[in-house]
Amino acid sequence: MSESSFWLLRFENQVLVHTESSAGHVFPISSAAEFGHPPEALLIGQWQGKPCYALDLDSIPSHVQGELMPVRSLFGAVGEEAFTLAGRATQLMDWQKNHRFCGRCGTVQFKKTTEFGMECPSCRMVSYPRISPAVMILIQRGNELLLGRSPHFKPGVFSALAGFVEPGETLEQCCKREVLEEVGVEITNLRYFQSQPWPFPNSLMLAFFADYAGGEINIDPNEIEAAAWFSKDDLPKLPDPVSIARRLIDAACQ
Ligand SMILES: [Zn+2]
Repeated sequence: MSESSFWLLRFENQVLVHTESSAGHVFPISSAAEFGHPPEALLIGQWQGKPCYALDLDSIPSHVQGELMPVRSLFGAVGEEAFTLAGRATQLMDWQKNHRFCGRCGTVQFKKTTEFGMECPSCRMVSYPRISPAVMILIQRGNELLLGRSPHFKPGVFSALAGFVEPGETLEQCCKREVLEEVGVEITNLRYFQSQPWPFPNSLMLAFFADYAGGEINIDPNEIEAAAWFSKDDLPKLPDPVSIARRLIDAACQ
């Protein structure tokens, strides 16, 4: 491990950051020796030209200063780049923590040195970090957008529809199935927009535009609590700018 590196330290699901650093360091600079060369420290990438390690802590050592923040709030506090790195770190730390034993034979596993893989020394099965693809679909009909709200959204917020890809399904099939299940509407002319890793816990959101093709709104109350057509000139409360949902809706309105 390099002598001086950045450390993305997590304590009780929050990350330690410097929000006021004039050097723009964001993450604390330290050395592996100061943490006792922990074997579970993960090299997750580079930050400002130095290696950046991620480490879960039971307590914050006295030599480290900073403010504890939930990963979700980093986007607003320290920017998208730090948010992305912290999201990557979170997913990798969770993966390491959740794959200590082989899922097939129960033996204690070890992290491979060449890649992010936990390998079983007994049956040789390798467990890679799980990434769960999900689609997001913004349906347009003339000047209107079909938006829905899930019960776990903040009060009043509506967004594009979304759902997880099932095994054996193409993204196109998933978009059509999710829309039909959630609001009973048919779509056509799918156009890919952008993607966003979403580390809560391990989604990769792939966003699409689609055109309305038929059907009346008929919601599945197990998935969403309301859905409606909204004029682009009179939209309800929308998701935070951190989310791809917001970027997708904003792009449709330009
Ligand atoms: Zn095994």
